[in-house]
Amino acid sequence: MDEFSADKLGGLKRGELNFFDLHVHSKYSFDSLTSLDSIVGKAGKIGLHGFALTDHDSFAGAEKAAKLAEDACLVFIPGMEIETECGDLIALFLNEPVAARSFASAVDEVKAQGGVAVVAHPFKRIGKESDFKASMLPLPKGVGVEAANGRISLEKNELAIKTASRFNFFFTAGSDAHFSSEMGSAFLASKAGDAEELRKAIVNKQCAPVWVGRRYNPLSRGIRLAKRITRI
Ligand SMILES: [Zn+2]
Repeated sequence: MDEFSADKLGGLKRGELNFFDLHVHSKYSFDSLTSLDSIVGKAGKIGLHGFALTDHDSFAGAEKAAKLAEDACLVFIPGMEIETECGDLIALFLNEPVAARSFASAVDEVKAQGGVAVVAHPFKRIGKESDFKASMLPLPKGVGVEAANGRISLEKNELAIKTASRFNFFFTAGSDAHFSSEMGSAFLASKAGDAEELRKAIVNKQCAPVWVGRRYNPLSRGIRLAKRITRI
């Protein structure tokens, strides 16, 4: 994580940084049961300045989450995690749901809304930068990568950070929490105080990805299966 360590961000000190978990799932995802109340509660408890709700192909929780976050004095970033033929795409700073499911069209929709799109956990299923190059590059203009994901090993996150650095991609970071207990396992550190400042900080790379550690809850797989069977 050296390249983007907070020490090297123009002399910023720890106390001047805010922490944002930009990849959180709720019960509106097919594989999570987490309530929006518990997400907001946990965000406050662990000292996050804000978080993004990124449910799988769903924007259903955004409005309620925005209200809860506002009441808790948290910055809220409405988002989605969209399953495309090129893997998962994280869309942030959305005003409305993204309807497209092809990578290129989804990116266009996000950009048309003034949002930010990043390739989620780019090395989750592949182990080498050459595989990423073969399958993903060139990324469309205005697309970045998720440089730290709480459910991915440190080695794979380091590969994502190196790739972002090498190709000059902007980047985000988030826990990929499917349980509120997983929140904060990865986050983005930035001086930004509100959503618009954070959006600008991301595209201008004035932020740092932080990976704390993998906190994958073993119940996760069971919930995914149960939801598929019972359609709750
Ligand atoms: Zn996710």
